[in-house]
Amino acid sequence: MKLIYFRRKKIRIELYCSWSKQTKLEKSVRLLRVLGQRLNVRMSTGSPGVLVQRINYASGKNEWKMMPEDYDYTQELARAAFADMLHDEERNRLYREGLVAAIRKIKERGDTVRVLDIGTGTGLLSMMAAVEGVDSIVACEEFRPMAECAARVVEENGFKDHIKIIRKRSTELTVGPGCDLEERANILVTEVFDTELIGEGAIGTYNHANQELLSQDRIVVPGIARMFAQAVSCKKASEWSRLRSIELDPVKKAKRRSTGGGGSGDTEQGGRIHIEDNHTINNLMLHDVQLSELDETLFTPLSPPTQVFHFDLACRSAPIPTKETTQNRFEAINSGECTAVFMWWDCFTDPDNQILLSCAPKWIHHDPKNMPWRDHWMQAIYYPQSEIKVTKGDSLLLTSNHDEYSLTFDVNHENTTPLAVPHVDLPMCRTRLGAVNNQYKNNQYTQAILQILSERSPSRILALSDQSLLGLTVAKLSSARVTVVQENSRMKDILFNIAQEVSGEYDLVVADPFYSVSVLPWHNLLFWFQTNFLKDKGIVTDSTCILPGAFKLWVLPVHYQHVWKIRAPLYNIQGFDMKHFDKIIEKACENCDNNVEPQPLWEYTSIALGHPLQVARFNLSEQIPEKSCLFTGQIQVEDHQHDLNGLAVWCEWTLVPGITTSSGPTRTPCIGEKVHWTMDSKQGVHFFKTPNRTTSAIEYDICFNRSDGDFVFNFVI
Ligand code: SAH
Repeated sequence: MKLIYFRRKKIRIELYCSWSKQTKLEKSVRLLRVLGQRLNVRMSTGSPGVLVQRINYASGKNEWKMMPEDYDYTQELARAAFADMLHDEERNRLYREGLVAAIRKIKERGDTVRVLDIGTGTGLLSMMAAVEGVDSIVACEEFRPMAECAARVVEENGFKDHIKIIRKRSTELTVGPGCDLEERANILVTEVFDTELIGEGAIGTYNHANQELLSQDRIVVPGIARMFAQAVSCKKASEWSRLRSIELDPVKKAKRRSTGGGGSGDTEQGGRIHIEDNHTINNLMLHDVQLSELDETLFTPLSPPTQVFHFDLACRSAPIPTKETTQNRFEAINSGECTAVFMWWDCFTDPDNQILLSCAPKWIHHDPKNMPWRDHWMQAIYYPQSEIKVTKGDSLLLTSNHDEYSLTFDVNHENTTPLAVPHVDLPMCRTRLGAVNNQYKNNQYTQAILQILSERSPSRILALSDQSLLGLTVAKLSSARVTVVQENSRMKDILFNIAQEVSGEYDLVVADPFYSVSVLPWHNLLFWFQTNFLKDKGIVTDSTCILPGAFKLWVLPVHYQHVWKIRAPLYNIQGFDMKHFDKIIEKACENCDNNVEPQPLWEYTSIALGHPLQVARFNLSEQIPEKSCLFTGQIQVEDHQHDLNGLAVWCEWTLVPGITTSSGPTRTPCIGEKVHWTMDSKQGVHFFKTPNRTTSAIEYDICFNRSDGDFVFNFVI
């Protein structure tokens, strides 16, 4: 199996793990963290092309698809998310200023200037050094497709004779006459940081370079990095961290009031599904988030922002520790439950530590009005072992740990010994956990189920979908016999076994449609394929009630404020021509990417340019049509004050008429205003190549393929 390595870009890994022996698995976790949602498995065939595994959303299973021969290469590049990093004008500028200052300093000393650029990417930092007139530049890059790209970009910019590109990891470089480096370098410029600073292996890279590749009088750009943490009380973060009990009472009480009682579900039995507080997601799974987009009403700071680590990247006094713990005492500045620790870092790029490159969120940023947007570095959320209750003025201890690749944080009252509560590792991703914990959504389900129970008295209920507690809810609300099926890759086989064992029919099938194979919200239509399959087997019939009963697909024309940069060409960066890079990325995206990709839109500001349009609808009680369904029409664009640069696509499930859940906006979008998206699902994002303000209608044709359970989108301005 080939694991595709995705660098830098937040990976939003929607895999889960239930590992307990964390130390042994650190390396695997790191690898898994950087895997994308689609694990692609490559197989050579002997013929031109490679077979690549893809999920079929009609079956929930993997299948093989033939792709062009250079698929691996192009796909790795497309997924590497370099473009967003290179669009980060502030990063580029501050690195350049720091590098120029370092070169000036060495020249002032009268020394030759020998630059080493570790992880050269497109060759950008080396080219910055080259225009300053230095004596030698060695650039290494371990990611081969990128190294090839760097060689070409450097050549096209006329620096072929000035920059020596070595296709190696820095730790494999040799030094000495005739070697990779003729002699030790006296300037190291490197940008090998991720959202956690150290997640890409920066500690090992720096320790090795300082010891083996650099001279005593070295200047390292950047030279200092600092890590900050802030303890907060944030209900939403808590919902991403641990499974909550589900309250059923509010809906039942409201219903009793409005109907005057009655109905089989309207009983007094148990008003909640109690879940112990120790069901959590493994803390090693990086939770990187655009914290500046988190509404400030959603959290209360408990500690001031606190510097927890200081890294001397030039290793002046010692190598950077590969394991370190610090403790910071603080007085709680507010009261609340300590549910999360927010983290970010900054660094100084120049030798005098004057040029600050900061990833701080907006409420603490030194220049919030001019702070840059960046997706390659965000902030991250960590979860304490237990959620302690804090009163303003309490003395607390923030404990911060790092190893070679990852971080953990904990918050406790001073002078208390934290209780070691055994945790149950949840096999869930954080977005899904947020959805399962969403009490509003759970209320919608409870209400819909109670409505059905009051209209008919099912004796056999089937609960489908993955990572869902709906089966428990329905069992609690009714006296029917409930069969719960949790999805896995052998879903069909499992369903088949049920079909063998079950005699008689189900009166009600319920689902909170979610499957771990799904990448986009509508992939959860797998639920429809499952009920169809069960119909074929005769255990679901035309008289079986299906909840949700209908599916709707929605589209909204939008102006994306920043996120378009992840796919936009670079053209020219800091005066260097990047057309070769643009060309290969464009080709890669054509080969590999769907034109609608998943993004958590609550983290990316978008302005509504029209009204949401329902573009497709399915009645889930009906059979899936034999042939593909084509939906065509026009999306009206009504705002012309902003560039139309994309579309957002989401779906809605009608549980029973009048009660819905949606993966889209949480309130009706107003034209010309920011859209408020649910935080519990990703949405589909389409970018237009040529944004404009004049388009008044977008033609669409959208095809639903029965064969793979997916939509194919075509949008034309
Ligand atoms: N320097 C470029 C690219 C930064 S991205 C720029 O600033 O635009 C970081 C790059 O470093 C990636 O391409 C990654 O593959 C590479 N890299 C990370 N650690 C490395 C190491 N130890 N040796 C060589 N390349 C490394």
